Amino acid sequence: MHKQTIKEVLEKYKEFLHRDITVYGWVRAFRSNRFIALNDGSTINNLQIVVDFQNFDENIIRNITTASSLKIVGEVVESQGAGQNIEIIAKKIKVLGDNFTEDLHSTILQPKKHSLEKLREQAHLRFRTNLFGAIFRVRHAVSFAIHSFFNERAFFYMNTPIITGADAEGAGEMFGVTSFDLENIPRTEDARIDYAQDFFGRKTNLTVSGQLEGEAAAMGLGRVYTFGPTFRAENSNTTRHLAEFWMVEPEVAFNNLEDNIDLAEDFLKYVIQYVLDKCKDDVAFLDKRFAEEQKQKPERDRAKEGLIEKLENVVKKRFMRVSYTEAIEILLNSKENKKGKFAYPIENWGADLQSEHERYLVEKHFEAPVVLFNYPAEIKAFYMRMNEDHKTVAAMDVLFPGIGEIIGGSQREERLEVLKNKMQMMHVDPEELWWYMDTRKFGSVPHAGFGLGLERLVLFVTGMTNIRDVIPFPRTPKNAEF
Ligand code: ATP
Ligand code: MN
Repeated sequence: MHKQTIKEVLEKYKEFLHRDITVYGWVRAFRSNRFIALNDGSTINNLQIVVDFQNFDENIIRNITTASSLKIVGEVVESQGAGQNIEIIAKKIKVLGDNFTEDLHSTILQPKKHSLEKLREQAHLRFRTNLFGAIFRVRHAVSFAIHSFFNERAFFYMNTPIITGADAEGAGEMFGVTSFDLENIPRTEDARIDYAQDFFGRKTNLTVSGQLEGEAAAMGLGRVYTFGPTFRAENSNTTRHLAEFWMVEPEVAFNNLEDNIDLAEDFLKYVIQYVLDKCKDDVAFLDKRFAEEQKQKPERDRAKEGLIEKLENVVKKRFMRVSYTEAIEILLNSKENKKGKFAYPIENWGADLQSEHERYLVEKHFEAPVVLFNYPAEIKAFYMRMNEDHKTVAAMDVLFPGIGEIIGGSQREERLEVLKNKMQMMHVDPEELWWYMDTRKFGSVPHAGFGLGLERLVLFVTGMTNIRDVIPFPRTPKNAEF
């Protein structure tokens, strides 16, 4: 038999009217010994169950409390009350499993307001809350939209390795992978770790990016994207960094920097529009939460736009395209910089931009998403294509309000000799990346790609502020619970 979800029942209620149906879920609230708000996770909306307690065994009624799990058979009728179209008149109620109500008060399932910190400590239970239900349904929609966007554009989904033999993918500090007994690590005669005896016979790491392998795939399949977990042992305890996060990395043969920026802009707009279209109830809930959170803040720190308004504007507005050099001019001339308001003052061309600078450009100066391009070669990775000026590379970062960098990408250096020189300058060993060098040897072509951190995008569309709240079980420095 087809098990309908509560979402389905609420949306297609006309089909179910005056029929008996079976529904499953958890009790969100039980009022006046008569009204159960039942939720099964399929939607933020609860289904109202009406219980005539004379018709039921007292034991069953006593077992219906917050969090209990129920199977209900009953008739769908038009609701008398406000707030819902239909309700179910219960005919059969089955309690599906244990519910230790005496322990409930110490959990976040107790129906009252809990802080986000407290919810994080009980990340295994937060799926039951309205907020995290909404966040994770939106996270799903974002992932699905990503696949859908690339599929519509004839990209192939490519899985790149999670355990990598590359020592320098150029994106950050790595976690080592080993099967050595750490109490007894084999050493060579000169007392170095003898990786030849390790599982893979060499030093291996968790990947920080699938890009290099993605490039190899693009050199045969044309348009590919990877979408998988990446790991960075960066000890930056910020609200935008995780040690384990999901990255989407398209890589496209024959694309130049401008094509790459066009792709990034279309991609972000597509995904955000998809969420606006498909997650109306959850986004409406998140919009309200966002507005309430803003009210708690001092006036000058409040967001100018509501969440939905912000999302709609990003879809509507053309992203500003600004070269690094122009951005530095703007920052040098800004009141903030002159009055020493930046923690890292901008002194000259060549400075690496901090998130405070990125946010100034997006939130204060342009008031729109900004794509910065042509960065100084020194501050960017070895594989980015050298421009004619021999000073800058064809890099691009997409900066979003409230987030800063959401996408980082570039046109890749496809000229073998230029790449080799660059690697030498940046102390990257071409021997170790021999296979990557090969991709420049046999019909090398211009190509470009970028990386999007999934959680940064989910942060943006949900209006949440801490990245730990948009991944089910966050991994951050000193934290790997669950
Ligand atoms: P940042 O300067 O913010 O640390 P990055 O320059 O290290 O970013 P890239 O190496 O270009 O980032 O990675 C591509 C994208 O992956 C970024 O634009 C961002 O969306 C995301 N990202 C990078 N590091 C993290 C992290 N530690 N946690 C979550 N997302 C991340
Ligand atoms: Mn980083």
